[in-house]
Amino acid sequence: MRAKNRISNSSTVRVFFLESFIMVRQIWEQYLSSAPEQWREYVVMCPCGHQLRVRLCDYIDAAVSPDLKEDLLQNRLNRIRCDECGRDAPVEKKFIYCDVQQLFIAQCYPVNDLSHWPHYEQQLTDTLRKVGNAENEGQMCRLVFGQEALREKVRIRNAGLDDAAVEILKAAYYSQSDFQTYHLQAVWFSGIDSEKKALNMTVADRFTSKAELTYQYPVADYAEPMKSVLNDVENPLRIVTRGVFISLDKLLTRTDFGIRWPVTVQQ
Ligand SMILES: [Zn+2]
Repeated sequence: MRAKNRISNSSTVRVFFLESFIMVRQIWEQYLSSAPEQWREYVVMCPCGHQLRVRLCDYIDAAVSPDLKEDLLQNRLNRIRCDECGRDAPVEKKFIYCDVQQLFIAQCYPVNDLSHWPHYEQQLTDTLRKVGNAENEGQMCRLVFGQEALREKVRIRNAGLDDAAVEILKAAYYSQSDFQTYHLQAVWFSGIDSEKKALNMTVADRFTSKAELTYQYPVADYAEPMKSVLNDVENPLRIVTRGVFISLDKLLTRTDFGIRWPVTVQQ
């Protein structure tokens, strides 16, 4: 399995550390046009019109800062608290997440940039090729749009699952309904149950992220739907399983939805 979460030996970790260091720098130069820094000050406009000066995180190295990883997972990272209207909201921004121990690196764009995914996927693929990292087995390099998508990839990596198989599982949920459902609801992998027998999936309101229902899928069978997709050359879902942007959004982007996330940093 591509995204297998194995115990990495130390030399693999060392190589990944060097590659990811080069990669992070390259990604940084491309899209932040500044030297890599963990925290920077930004001016953010609250939807109420009030301008806030906030320190936001640009980069998490999970091995060095496990507390920041936890903040990200608990949705405590990069939030504004407006002293004018009292709003407490997450800020969507460009972001790099790197976990050397898990051989995992992710480049995150604001969710509102989703329509540009073909361009960003090509860009990241080119960067990975440049540092010779494109096809190294056991490593996971991903493009994501939005903090929620990043959190999901981190949970998937922690659980040792194949993210492509998880995306195809979500397709099964939508196939029971229609496009309107995709417009309104997002399905997220939220973790493995305590006995490690089932994947917990959460269906949430796409705009508010509020959970609406949860369901489970047996761990033992979770990759079966993907296998049948890959065995069917005509199946349009195959595109979801390829490249560095592994997401159902490749088929059904949210651009037509008219949803704009309220707080976004433009860099
Ligand atoms: Zn405000």
